[in-house]
Amino acid sequence: MSGGGRVTGGRESTVRIGLVLPDVMGTYGDGGNALVLRQRLRMRGHDAEIVEITLSDPVPESLDIYTLGGAEDSAQRLATRHLQRYPGLQQAAAKGAPVLAICAAIQVLGHWYETSTGERVDGVGLIDVTTSPQAKRAIGEVTTTPLLPGLTAALTGFENHRGGTKLGGDATGLAHVTRGVGNGVGDGLEGVVQGSTIGTYMHGPALARNPELADLLLSRVLGVDELPPLHLPEVDQLRRERLRA
Ligand code: GLN
Repeated sequence: MSGGGRVTGGRESTVRIGLVLPDVMGTYGDGGNALVLRQRLRMRGHDAEIVEITLSDPVPESLDIYTLGGAEDSAQRLATRHLQRYPGLQQAAAKGAPVLAICAAIQVLGHWYETSTGERVDGVGLIDVTTSPQAKRAIGEVTTTPLLPGLTAALTGFENHRGGTKLGGDATGLAHVTRGVGNGVGDGLEGVVQGSTIGTYMHGPALARNPELADLLLSRVLGVDELPPLHLPEVDQLRRERLRA
């Protein structure tokens, strides 16, 4: 899709995966999502590399896919300012580059969020969501049934957030909660989908636990309908364990 000169569906150049602000956003090993994407590409014979974008770097708009992790309130605020100052991520998303936003990153990419002390902070405005603190922190396993076409298997992750996220008319839920809290505003939804952006409260990291979601993102990056399957018994085992837990 994006990514200067790479031939869609081919192997002619390297897929560049943006790991956005791992220095401030990346609780519970969310940086692992970028590793999973890179590994699943390499196992299928594609060259792939992770480009880390820290608070010292402007955010490039030329990468093929972007991942952002969760964060505590103060770190989340630093990340918000940086993404507002350097809007490369928003520009890439506008051109269709997939964006995976975990937990705090959903909040940061929305219109605004309120911190646990009730202070309202303007977000990046990429997705039509707002977030306010809920009475009780949501902590524990979350399991859901996907709503996004292309996903069939239950999604599983670990959630830990105080914010509850309300979706506006331009956004839809990623999944229906079957166990746990999810977005936490009473609509039974977990996560958000808007254009090429997918957000979820699931840590895990999410893509290690949910390979179907990883491959959906990668099929979009490569511009193909389907990817050759990977047989990874360890991943199947992890899923069985987490879904049983
Ligand atoms: N600080 C945010 C909240 O509590 C996000 C937490 C996280 O990313 N784990 O809602």
